[in-house]
Amino acid sequence: MERINITRDLALSRLIYGMWRVLDDSDTSPERIRNKLDACLDQGITTIDQAAIYGGYQAESALGDALEGTHLRDKIEIVTKCGIVAPSARHSGVRVPHYDSSRAHILESVDYSLMAMRTDYIDLLLIHRPDPFMNHDETGATLDALVFSGKVRAVGVSNFKPHDWSLLQSAMRTPLSTNQIELSVVAHHGFTNGDVAFHQMNDTPIMAWSPLAGGALFGDDPATARLRQAISKFAVRTGFDSGAVAIAWLLAHPAKIMPIMGSNQISRIKSFSQAFDVPMDREAWFDIYTSALGHPVP
Ligand code: NAP
Repeated sequence: MERINITRDLALSRLIYGMWRVLDDSDTSPERIRNKLDACLDQGITTIDQAAIYGGYQAESALGDALEGTHLRDKIEIVTKCGIVAPSARHSGVRVPHYDSSRAHILESVDYSLMAMRTDYIDLLLIHRPDPFMNHDETGATLDALVFSGKVRAVGVSNFKPHDWSLLQSAMRTPLSTNQIELSVVAHHGFTNGDVAFHQMNDTPIMAWSPLAGGALFGDDPATARLRQAISKFAVRTGFDSGAVAIAWLLAHPAKIMPIMGSNQISRIKSFSQAFDVPMDREAWFDIYTSALGHPVP
């Protein structure tokens, strides 16, 4: 599997496995989670995406339980996020869901994530959402200090617009290494609104969350009927399934997009890397893109 260098010392697998839905599975046992990790590792998918808030602040512990007593931690890179505070057992005094990019919150969240995942370092820490109340000097200095301490190997952001990125980066010595944004054949606006262009210009690889539109691509929503038909026609013609085609559409783009896959089904996980074999030239890319737009290019 291709690997992408997000810093001089840290490379991630081009496809990433996301654990947002891990506790939605009918089987959430450590053994089942290890089976999913093994299915990823067999294909060279070594990067696992987590967040403090996933699974009601329980998903990191589920991963930690699966890693316990194994050598799996040395074979994977863990991405996790901080900054969303919601009323929960974890944040019992909290009344109003909010974002928190303060030093106190980031440091507490990182220590909790390390404890939950039974590890002494996080490969990549992301600020989960832009915080409209952010003190960029405080947040930037905290991220720098975390990298300096070795608790975190690299830092980045998620759902940031270019101006949010520039504000935070202006107060940091460590380069921000990635932005995790929603990007798919359905959520394609990033390709024209400046989000992707900004990262292409800065040569910062993008992670694409919900690259299959969270499964909506396979539903019966009339709004995406034409797109589904174009993808499925292309899939039949090339001998792949529609999911692989939708991922190939992201992989083909020159911005070094890293799709984060979210399936809980082992059979689907085992076939993630088929997307690399789908032939996707410029015309095929535009055929799918214009089906998503609903009209040909002017
Ligand atoms: P996704 O791959 O777009 O969607 C996964 C969903 O699609 C699952 O429910 C899966 O069901 C379903 N699916 C996949 N293939 C299918 C098929 N052929 N037919 C029918 N359904 C199918 O990704 P996602 O789970 O929404 O997001 C992926 C990761 O992105 C998350 O785990 C998380 O790490 C990250 N994320 C980040 C943010 C952020 O704000 N940074 C937000 C959302 C997500 P099965 O399980 O049954 O296969």
